[in-house]
Amino acid sequence: MLLPHLSRLFATSLPSLSFSNSSRLLSTSLMSVGAKASARTKATLRGVVFDMDGTLTVPVIDFPAMYREVLGPEAYAAAKKAGGGSVDILHHIEAWGPQEQRRAYEIISRFEQEGLDRLQIMPGALELCGFLDSRDIRRGLITRNVKPAVDVFHKRFGIMFSPALSREFKPYKPDPAPLLHICSTWNIPPNEVMMVGDSLKDDVVCGKRAGAFTCLLDETGQYGPHEDLEDDLRPDFKVSSLVEVFTILESHFDLAPERAQAV
Ligand SMILES: [Mg+2]
Repeated sequence: MLLPHLSRLFATSLPSLSFSNSSRLLSTSLMSVGAKASARTKATLRGVVFDMDGTLTVPVIDFPAMYREVLGPEAYAAAKKAGGGSVDILHHIEAWGPQEQRRAYEIISRFEQEGLDRLQIMPGALELCGFLDSRDIRRGLITRNVKPAVDVFHKRFGIMFSPALSREFKPYKPDPAPLLHICSTWNIPPNEVMMVGDSLKDDVVCGKRAGAFTCLLDETGQYGPHEDLEDDLRPDFKVSSLVEVFTILESHFDLAPERAQAV
């Protein structure tokens, strides 16, 4: 076991080193250090806002299949090309007539319902929430999914996020509005909040536009090396699992002392 100050040093200077602290074995292999926080100048963190699908829950919605069915194969291919590989389906639908919109939302609802049927909590999510609670760090949620899906998520896993903003709150991510709304509700400035999500174009952009810290969850390495990401999309931190978020929080932020958890 490394002493805490050595752990922090290694977390910033030796990114490929794995180490254990008192309770967990943590890997820092994909962690990158943001300019806003370092071991020397630690920032305050009082709130963390999570994306839901693919971040707090294991990805189960087949988004490409959903987009293909909503747009049609040719329009999907064109939209994907125009978006540099990504598609903002809600943005597309907004411009359609009422009948087309209804059909599109029926398809999306079907995919989302199938996702709910197979919903699983992301490994490390419950432990991370317990850790945040122990340090008096607020937990919020922003999703482009619908409120009933958030309700199912809260109920099924017995854990609440507040505020939890769903698709009904507009404008949705990547607009910073939902994140700024949560900060305002908490009365905490955005620069003391971190946005954690698995989407560069939605979660990271939302967080950056709001002025919050950002952490990209990239389980499969689909986004490539952190250094290769464009400036306006580059998150402050990148992890391959929620377990790695512990390391980032403890290494780069001033957190309130741990308090005893209510039994
Ligand atoms: Mg997501």
